[in-house]
Amino acid sequence: MEIVPGVHSLPVGSGPFMGFYAPNVYLVVGREGALIDAGYGDEVSAGSRLNYVKGMAELRLAYILLTHAHPDHIGGADRIKQETGAEVVIHRLDAPQAELATVSADRTVEDGDTLSLDGMSLEVIHTPGHSPGHVCFLFKEEGILFSGDHVLGMGTTAMRPPEGDMARYIDSLRKLLSYDIEMILPGHGPPIRTPQRKLEELIQHRLEREQQVLDGLRQGKATIEELVAEIYLELDSRLRDMARGQVLAHLVKLEGEGKVSHRGSKENARYIIP
Ligand SMILES: [Zn+2]
Repeated sequence: MEIVPGVHSLPVGSGPFMGFYAPNVYLVVGREGALIDAGYGDEVSAGSRLNYVKGMAELRLAYILLTHAHPDHIGGADRIKQETGAEVVIHRLDAPQAELATVSADRTVEDGDTLSLDGMSLEVIHTPGHSPGHVCFLFKEEGILFSGDHVLGMGTTAMRPPEGDMARYIDSLRKLLSYDIEMILPGHGPPIRTPQRKLEELIQHRLEREQQVLDGLRQGKATIEELVAEIYLELDSRLRDMARGQVLAHLVKLEGEGKVSHRGSKENARYIIP
């Protein structure tokens, strides 16, 4: 369905994240089209997206633009490329991981590159953090930012070191504040119509968590497990792994800034404020 003029949201099918949490796939349409992310790769789900594109008889799909190389975003890329001849585009730093999932890039991009699409322009904004080569695409004429997993319509972006990098993630959120953005269409969840406020909230949220980590350390909590128990009071067991990743990502950031140090590795690592 067309969610704003010239931008459609495509059926996603089923996979590990369902319903509200399902990955979004968008289609920017002029006479040529660009798919933003490719969703799951199974035949039923990729096929339903392909049918949607084929249903627009006049449309030539020029690009499949991938925000990052996670399976729920790149899975359908190969299948859709085979049938449409669209070019698969991804940032240079996420291209090797996509390749491992047999999605080969026809073109790698860098921060500031612009892809033109039938008179429209999509600017590549490198937003590392969730993954090293994560990018957002800014549809400049409309001020629409396709944010992948960098900014979500609900919940918190997962950060799993070493791939996930909290310091760079926060820098990438700040970087977006300097762009003219009217609306964010995220990789999961509903559209965000107050982009600046959302970005500021996300930065604030991360800085508050960081403060909680520091407070926990001051109170003598020293392991990731102890910090998770201190910070996430009523945590669903299914989210425990995600919480561990977030806390570790904060600790890695703080250590990089010289505010924290650790001994031991993995689960046995103990953190202190030196
Ligand atoms: Zn992701």
